[in-house]
Amino acid sequence: MAGHKIVVVGGGGSAGLTDDARLKRQGRTDVAVIDPASTHYHQPLWTLVGGGRAPVEASVKPQSKVMPKGVAWIQRAAVGVDPRRRAGDARRRLQRRLRVPGHVPGHPAGPGEDHRPGQTLGRDGVSSNHLYELAPATWKFIRDTRSGTATFTMPSGPIKCAGAPQKIAYLAADYWREQGVLDKVDIHLVLPTPGMFGVKEFSDVLVCVAKRYGITVHLQSEAISVNPDAREVTIADLESSSPSSARTAAGPCA
Ligand SMILES: Cc1cc2nc3c(=O)[nH]c(=O)nc-3n(C[C@H](O)[C@H](O)[C@H](O)COP(=O)(O)OP(=O)(O)OC[C@H]3O[C@@H](n4cnc5c(N)ncnc54)[C@H](O)[C@@H]3O)c2cc1C
Repeated sequence: MAGHKIVVVGGGGSAGLTDDARLKRQGRTDVAVIDPASTHYHQPLWTLVGGGRAPVEASVKPQSKVMPKGVAWIQRAAVGVDPRRRAGDARRRLQRRLRVPGHVPGHPAGPGEDHRPGQTLGRDGVSSNHLYELAPATWKFIRDTRSGTATFTMPSGPIKCAGAPQKIAYLAADYWREQGVLDKVDIHLVLPTPGMFGVKEFSDVLVCVAKRYGITVHLQSEAISVNPDAREVTIADLESSSPSSARTAAGPCA
């Protein structure tokens, strides 16, 4: 049984690689990384992929190319961590551990409807930038849209990059502006938060950006189901938990 002073579970992801590199810079030599991935994804690029500004292939690198030299990489999945024994089930004894195994996004599913990702996403104009396979589909749907209604949504609960749903809405709106069809697309941005950003100064600017593009912002709201066949998305007002068209963002811009 090998022992390591520091073990980073999920250390091949963006957060973990940052930790691995920092530990190395601090002169720590006994660092082990437990991560089963053979491919590293630079996920922030998926926003630009969905917006037609980057190819999806540019977001991928072999994991071996980004793993810091000098760490012991155990290419397996951790199945549990026992803090009392200070040992992972991968049978590595450790003195200190970091856990950064990322977050796998969920997707909305309405009662009685089969709206699992495989069933709903990637077809009929429904997509997500949060998956490698789907970000190119987002761009295809944006590129093919010349009129109609476009809805960009952010779920409540944990999300990687709360700004991502807004960024793709602005990229799409800008593309439609370039194409001269912005006034033919009714754009909605659905956010679970009470404001567009946690910091008032930024929030005020974003209210004006959305307004400039003619985007209707629904605050404290969430998409609870998507029906691609009917081309319908149901939005719930999170305060009353009933479908509605909720509050809109108000700001200081003229
Ligand atoms: C569309 C999109 C846009 C984004 N835009 C931005 C942005 O503009 N700016 C920004 O700062 N951030 C952005 N982010 C967020 C950023 O990409 C994430 O915060 C970051 O990738 C999180 O890093 P992580 O290491 O926690 O998770 P990940 O990068 O997902 O890595 C998790 C790692 O854990 C490993 N793992 C999983 N389970 C186990 C297990 N059981 N045992 C061992 N290892 C395991 C995986 O193999 C993986 O290597 C965006 C994200 C998305 C999806």
